[in-house]
Amino acid sequence: MGLNPGEVFIHRNIANQVIPTDNNINAVIQYAVEHLKVKHIIICGHYECGGVKAALNPSDMGQLNSWLQTLRDVRRIHKAELESITDQQQLFDRLVELNVREQCMNVIKIDHVQRSWYKTGFPTIHGWVFDVRTGKLIDLGLKMEQEFMEIREIYDLKPLNS
Ligand SMILES: [Zn+2]
Repeated sequence: MGLNPGEVFIHRNIANQVIPTDNNINAVIQYAVEHLKVKHIIICGHYECGGVKAALNPSDMGQLNSWLQTLRDVRRIHKAELESITDQQQLFDRLVELNVREQCMNVIKIDHVQRSWYKTGFPTIHGWVFDVRTGKLIDLGLKMEQEFMEIREIYDLKPLNS
């Protein structure tokens, strides 16, 4: 990223999941937004992700089953597009990208993020993929504000009269 140590506040988990009941990520995001006043939140996935690969195959993985359930949901939401891809590598790569997009959506659904957004216009949400094959960071160019407007009636937490 070309940044110095301490310039990025990082939270990591398996398959870059933003799960609404995960206290850890909620605390991290609240702290980042309210106290550190971060202007950008980046969801960064990576190609060849083992978690994403697991969601492409039916298998019982114990504790990982519930963790990867949201990833299987991404697969369900984008079933039509994913089923149209015949090349297995392309399918794997696309699910990595769609997972990043859906997790960006999940960030926007978080109350701390929405509160800050309405107050300051920040944070901006970005979706990136780290290509482990080339060492490059790829910006997926997602327009999350625009995407949120399309689902706002469902996920907006702002009371109508405020
Ligand atoms: Zn991974």
